[in-house]
Amino acid sequence: MSSESLALKGGWVVTQNPKREILKADVLIENGLISQIGKVGKADEVIDAKGCAVIPGLINAHTHISMTLMRGIADDVNLEGFLNKTFKVDAQRTAEDIRAGAELGAIEMLRSGCTSFVDMYYGQDIIAGAVKDSGIRGFLGWVVLDEKFTTQKGSPLTNCERFISEHSGKDRIHPLVALQGVYVCSEETLMKAKELAIAKDTLLHIHLSETRKEVYDHQASTGNRPGDWLYGIGFLCDRVLAAHCAWLTMGEIRRMAERGVSAAHCPVSNMKLASGFEAPVPEMQSAGISVGLGTDGCSSQNRLDMWGEMKTCALLHKVQRLDATVMTAQRVFDMATVEGANALKMGDRLGSIEPGKIADLAVIDLKHPAMVPTYPQNIVSNLVYSCQSDCVRHTVVGGKMAMKDSRILTMDEKKVAEDAQKISEKFFL
Ligand SMILES: [Zn+2]
Repeated sequence: MSSESLALKGGWVVTQNPKREILKADVLIENGLISQIGKVGKADEVIDAKGCAVIPGLINAHTHISMTLMRGIADDVNLEGFLNKTFKVDAQRTAEDIRAGAELGAIEMLRSGCTSFVDMYYGQDIIAGAVKDSGIRGFLGWVVLDEKFTTQKGSPLTNCERFISEHSGKDRIHPLVALQGVYVCSEETLMKAKELAIAKDTLLHIHLSETRKEVYDHQASTGNRPGDWLYGIGFLCDRVLAAHCAWLTMGEIRRMAERGVSAAHCPVSNMKLASGFEAPVPEMQSAGISVGLGTDGCSSQNRLDMWGEMKTCALLHKVQRLDATVMTAQRVFDMATVEGANALKMGDRLGSIEPGKIADLAVIDLKHPAMVPTYPQNIVSNLVYSCQSDCVRHTVVGGKMAMKDSRILTMDEKKVAEDAQKISEKFFL
């Protein structure tokens, strides 16, 4: 953590505190934590935030960061066609590819004011290197699946265990156990993964009920829908962060809520892969489930852009229910901040601008044409419906500036892009 102090002065602070206060205030950061909101005095570094909004760093609750190199590789196909193509490419990936994809993804997210991401992939030890160097915060899930389905060398569960042991306690790196989904994970694999998560005290991240086919196939082979089946075998618990949840019954929602499961909603990916537009997000939220927002990988979303994800989330639910009130800007902004943090069981440390919390923040230029006019009354609406990555001026993670005046400080952005372009040639040529 940073030992210096940093003050962001004179901005509109969109606190996302329990009262959702928007304050004209300075923010003081000391030792990587938010120490004061109000009128603050001297600091080692002072950033003029007048004409800007200071917001909690956005939390991308589900992605596959290294798949940035597969941007545009499998468009306009359904999930099965998509998985066939991406699994084939995955099988030939090298450590160099994974690292280059992770660096590119980290920069794309920092540029958008996203300070935390939840990742599901193998090679997380390599991704952790890119997280360390880029300055972003990574919740890194080593993917576990049945050995007969994997392209990993060795046992996925052993690989996952080794990764967690080696990376626990490192700054900005939060290792966890991830599972590809019920279609490639047996009951034994799932329960061993859960045991590992309990032993290491980590989250359990899983793709759940992404497509109707996944649900019907599982029902045909086990007699139960995936959510009900995971409940029945005793897998569901408060460590579980389930991505997609596009096809759930009210019964499954009740059982997930009963066990304290969280969800990551990925509207753009669900729409682009035509997986489904009926993710019951309002119902999950009413049942008390914390629902974060995720982009999913670049091969299905094409961007790691939480602004597009937020706007799409609001629009999708409004049009699907023919009800413009069903998903408000505030509710969507909550999903990208406080609710995302709650979904990661980090609600006491991330997701809002309050004293004592980790200083993960972004500063948004309210003079950008897309943001004018902004007043306290419409600031959250403008953030959800108008804002875009090039409105983000500064990004701060753990009290350190990773992007200042729209320039990435931690990495050579031009070189990262050139390397990524060159390395990905083999997937296309
Ligand atoms: Zn995914």
